[in-house]
Amino acid sequence: MSKEPWQQQIETILAQAGNRSDDQQTGAIAAPLYFSTAFRHQGLGQSTGYDYSRVQTPTRALLESVLATMEHAEHGYALSSGMAAIQLVFSQFKSGEHIITSDDLYGGSFRYFDQLTANYHLEFSQWAGQDYKQLDQLIQPNTKAIWLETPSNPTMKSIDIAQTAAIAHKHGLQLIVDNTFYTPILQQPLLLGADVVVHSATKYMAGHNDILAGAIMVNDAAIAEQLTFNLVTTGAVLDPFSCWLLLRSLKTLPLRLQQQQANAQVLVAALEKSAAVTKVLYPGKGAMISFYLADTYSVAEFLQQLKVISFAESLGGVESLLTVPDEQTHHDMPVAQRRALGITPNLLRLSVGIENSVDLQHDLAQAFAASKI
Ligand SMILES: *Cc1c(COP(=O)(O)O)cnc(C)c1O
Repeated sequence: MSKEPWQQQIETILAQAGNRSDDQQTGAIAAPLYFSTAFRHQGLGQSTGYDYSRVQTPTRALLESVLATMEHAEHGYALSSGMAAIQLVFSQFKSGEHIITSDDLYGGSFRYFDQLTANYHLEFSQWAGQDYKQLDQLIQPNTKAIWLETPSNPTMKSIDIAQTAAIAHKHGLQLIVDNTFYTPILQQPLLLGADVVVHSATKYMAGHNDILAGAIMVNDAAIAEQLTFNLVTTGAVLDPFSCWLLLRSLKTLPLRLQQQQANAQVLVAALEKSAAVTKVLYPGKGAMISFYLADTYSVAEFLQQLKVISFAESLGGVESLLTVPDEQTHHDMPVAQRRALGITPNLLRLSVGIENSVDLQHDLAQAFAASKI
C-alpha cells in the first residue's frame, strides 16, 4: 500500500464520525455530548472557542464539520428543522428581489415562498425544471437565485444541476439545491456547481423518524459569513442532544440507503406489473416512489388495509411510509397547480424503508387486493 495520505471514502468517514474527537481527555470512541449553554472564560479577552450555546457548542461543531464533509463543503450548519434551514437561506434576500424556483416542490417550501411573497415582498417565478431555455427567459434584472429540488416532489422529475448552475452563474445568480431526497450519498450538488445545499435532516440523514433537524452546506466565504451572522442572531440552531443523535444516525446512512434503494427497485418492478397501478414514477435511483392507483381501487380502503407500511407523512426513515400528497404534503398548493403537475387524489408517494422487500411486496399486494372496488 502507498504511504501517501489518502482520501477516505464516505462510508469510513461517517462510521468514524466523532471517534478521536475526545482523545485529549478520555479517548471515547462515541463522541461526548455537551449540554452546557455557557462556557467559562480563562480570562478577559480569552475563550476556549465556546462562549454561549446559541453561537456554538462542541457537539454541534462536530456535527457541522461532518455535514460539511459529506457535501464537500467548507461550511456546514445544523438547524432545528429543514424549514429553519430554508428560512436561514432566504434571510440573505431582501424585499423586491426575485427568486426562480422549480415548480414541483416540497409543500412546506411552497407555503413559505407564498408567505415571503405576501408579507416580505420577495418575488417568485416558477420554472418547469427541465426546459433550460425557459429558465433563461425567467431571469430578470432583480433575480438573485434559483432554487430547485431534484428529483422533484412528488412527481420525481430530474433536473440537471450542472446545466442549471451554468445558467445561474452566467447571470451571477446563486444556485440553491434542496438535496433531501437523494442525500449526499447519491448526489453532491456542490460538486455539480450549486452554491448552497439545504437538507431536511429529519428525513434520510436522521433516518429513524425521531429527530427534527435541518442542514445547510456552502463553500463561498461571503455567503457563509452572512448565514453565520443571521443564524447567531436569530438562533434556530439544533440542540446538543439532537446533534448527538444525528451524528449517530449518519454513521449508518450509507447502509440504510443501500437497503432502501435495493428495496425500492424491487417494489418498482412489482408496481409496474400490478393491475392496481396505472403509472409508476421513479427517477432511477433513491428510495422514493410515486404511483397512481387505478380508478377501480379505493385509496381510502388501500390505506386502511396496509399492515407493514404506515400511512404517514415524512420520508427517509427505516420504516416504510406512504402518503397522499394531494391531501397531505401538497395541500397548500392551489388545486389547479396540483392537477397541472399531476398531483391527483390517486397519486401515492411511498418512502421505502429497510424492511425485507418480500414483506413490503406482500403488504402492497394484499392491500391492493382488499381495496378493489
Ligand atoms: C421535509 C422536507 C422539508 C422540511 O423539513 P422539516 O425538517 O420538516 O422542517 C424541506 N424539503 C424537503 C424536500 C422535505 O422533504
